[in-house]
Amino acid sequence: MNTTKYIFVTGGVSSSLGKGIIGASLAKLLQARGYRVTIQKLDPYINVDPGTLNPYEHGECYVTDDGAETDLDLGHYERFLNVPTSQANNVTTGRIYQSVIQKERRGEFLGKTVQVVPHITNEIKYRIQLLGNTGDFDIVITEIGGTVGDIESLPYIEAVRQLKWELGDNNAIVIHLTLIPFLKAAGELKTKPTQHSVKTLMESGINADILVCRTEYHLSNDIKRKLALFCNVHQEAVIESIDASTIYDVPNLMFEEGLDTITLKKLNLSDHGTPDLAHWNSFLKKHKNPKSEVKIGLIGKYVELQDSYKSILESFIHAGAENEVKVKVVSVHSEHLDETNVAEKFKGLHGILVAPGFGERGIEGKIAAVKYAREQKIPYLGICLGMQMAVIEYSRNVLGLEGANSTEMNKDTPCPVIGLMDEQKHITDKGGTMRLGAWKCDLVADSIVGNTYNTKTIEERHRHRYEYNNEYRKQLEAAGLKTTGINLETGLVEIIEIENHPWFVGVQFHPEYKSTVVSPHPLFVSFVKAANEHLKNN
Ligand code: GLN
Repeated sequence: MNTTKYIFVTGGVSSSLGKGIIGASLAKLLQARGYRVTIQKLDPYINVDPGTLNPYEHGECYVTDDGAETDLDLGHYERFLNVPTSQANNVTTGRIYQSVIQKERRGEFLGKTVQVVPHITNEIKYRIQLLGNTGDFDIVITEIGGTVGDIESLPYIEAVRQLKWELGDNNAIVIHLTLIPFLKAAGELKTKPTQHSVKTLMESGINADILVCRTEYHLSNDIKRKLALFCNVHQEAVIESIDASTIYDVPNLMFEEGLDTITLKKLNLSDHGTPDLAHWNSFLKKHKNPKSEVKIGLIGKYVELQDSYKSILESFIHAGAENEVKVKVVSVHSEHLDETNVAEKFKGLHGILVAPGFGERGIEGKIAAVKYAREQKIPYLGICLGMQMAVIEYSRNVLGLEGANSTEMNKDTPCPVIGLMDEQKHITDKGGTMRLGAWKCDLVADSIVGNTYNTKTIEERHRHRYEYNNEYRKQLEAAGLKTTGINLETGLVEIIEIENHPWFVGVQFHPEYKSTVVSPHPLFVSFVKAANEHLKNN
């Protein structure tokens, strides 16, 4: 018999309340009590996945081992839980409709009218239970994107209502995340918006079991009692979620408020004593008590929106704590960067990271950044496009290959040092067709990466179309741009390093997707260490 328990997290009053962080924090606490937990996000938009979205829309696109392009909340889930997610952990309305329509075309509903209820809602219920049915998890937390009352979330809310009824009270609960605004003029916290959003949920037939209340000020017992009375929940199920200085404080805050205990009680599960957060708290202690501060430049073209580089920023937090160093990330817009102002803009930086990206905008700025880091011997990490830019810079300025470029930026370049693999040349669809997910890479022992990772073969996640062109490899290696990581099956170059430089690494993959609190990514740890050495020596 399948005994998986389900927790649904809905949002009310406002978007951006941090359902992902609350879900991940609760999951962390349950995991720390010995339960096997996973988290899933359902997104009510029509794109089949976020892979075709500009980062300005929903922030970074996060990539899983199995090559799913997903919402950035999955990054939080992995960083908190240290358990890999997969395609099944992120489902959009587009994907739901796509599979229902494919079934209709195959004749699976022959003779029937295909409708939102029951066909779309059944597909949603199926996707929710897919993870539970693997038998790998005791508890599945499903975060419903959007805000209750939105037109587009209705089928999800209906699916949750049905599942709650089918699974029974102690097997499925709803946590409603809401906002308690503070009205300055009245000097008061206000509960009315929450009462209304709980009522909206009730109109759809769902009673919230637990309320998590985002607030800038502590909730008095009176306010909690009022919320409980008017929202139909027990008072111990009104959980305060006060603004925190770091998202990594939220599990402890939720523990103090008893979110995990009330959840276990509602699900009829044993509380197994107290959660073991020893490792988590030792990370927090190091994060909060750094011994020095390094400044690292993040060169990208989406820097106006911090969420665009979420996983990179979080990787620096993990690597910083590991080195007991505070990493101050200084965003530099690549479009405003060139050889004439780079020295001034990079003044005081101890490391330079050129970010992933697509398209031509801002690439000359990125190349100027590479040149500066190379010549001034500042630690450099190039990720994906940042690695490709390093190859282009070296080809142009060291090998003297004038006009060297990626065919993504100039398809008629005389020296296509970065180009398309044959497999990519005939692809016309944009969605889900890049080189995606985990690929193996063998490391050269005597190299920075060889000394950094504790193993000879690594697996890292990819999301790109263009590749290092092996036709230039001999020349580049002879001139000092070493290949230190290669995929042996395909011959694709995955890592480059520069000789006679303290720390210069370009990687075709995305190390940032695999850094977690438990397991900070070795490349980021090594890069921050090199930046700290640069600080000491300069
Ligand atoms: N635009 C480049 C490519 O498609 C790099 C992609 C990236 O940085 N993720 O190969």
